[in-house]
Amino acid sequence: MNISIPHSGAAFEGKDQYISLGASSSLPDSIQIIRSSRRTLSLQVKHDGRIIVRAPRNASLKDIEAFVRKNSAWLRKHLALVEKEMAAEAASPVQPLSMDEIRSLADEALRVIPERTAHFAPLVGVQYGRITIRNQKTRWGSCSSKGNLNFNCLLMLAPPKVLDYVIVHELCHRKEMNHSPRFWAEVAKIIPDYKIYEKWLKTEGTRLMRRMTG
Ligand SMILES: [Zn+2]
Repeated sequence: MNISIPHSGAAFEGKDQYISLGASSSLPDSIQIIRSSRRTLSLQVKHDGRIIVRAPRNASLKDIEAFVRKNSAWLRKHLALVEKEMAAEAASPVQPLSMDEIRSLADEALRVIPERTAHFAPLVGVQYGRITIRNQKTRWGSCSSKGNLNFNCLLMLAPPKVLDYVIVHELCHRKEMNHSPRFWAEVAKIIPDYKIYEKWLKTEGTRLMRRMTG
């Protein structure tokens, strides 16, 4: 979020500044202000639950406080999300993968994924280009307009049916470069219960992604 406000008042330099909106706001006691040559005010909720306001050097505390108050609903919503994340992490911390583990997953993926892709491509009725194995933190697979396919080596830690689903998903993009109903109909032709695996990726898969390092 990034909201401009006209600023006024005296300039504050040097030391860290904090404001508090008081207990009734149900926001943390102290909200850090970081001043810079920026022209607008912005709010950020850090992963550890800290709130930071970025502000122009000469923005008055009154304006900053008003800005924070105005956005308190947004802040509370994001704080609740961060608290949920922190509770989930505390309950069952993920084990980060070592570089050796990632390398061996990539080796395994290079053996398994091209074979599974070659199996599914004729069933989907498409051809494809190069297959690249990546170690990514955000994607399971992708398909370029030229038909080159990328797959995440973490798929080797997913159930085999999830791997098959991701391969079929990317191959179906050879027919439909979108996620339209026509695309999903193509996926369902090969994997009728694909929604189970899509859901796995959103829940278990998100957790697995957090093990990726580097
Ligand atoms: Zn897709």
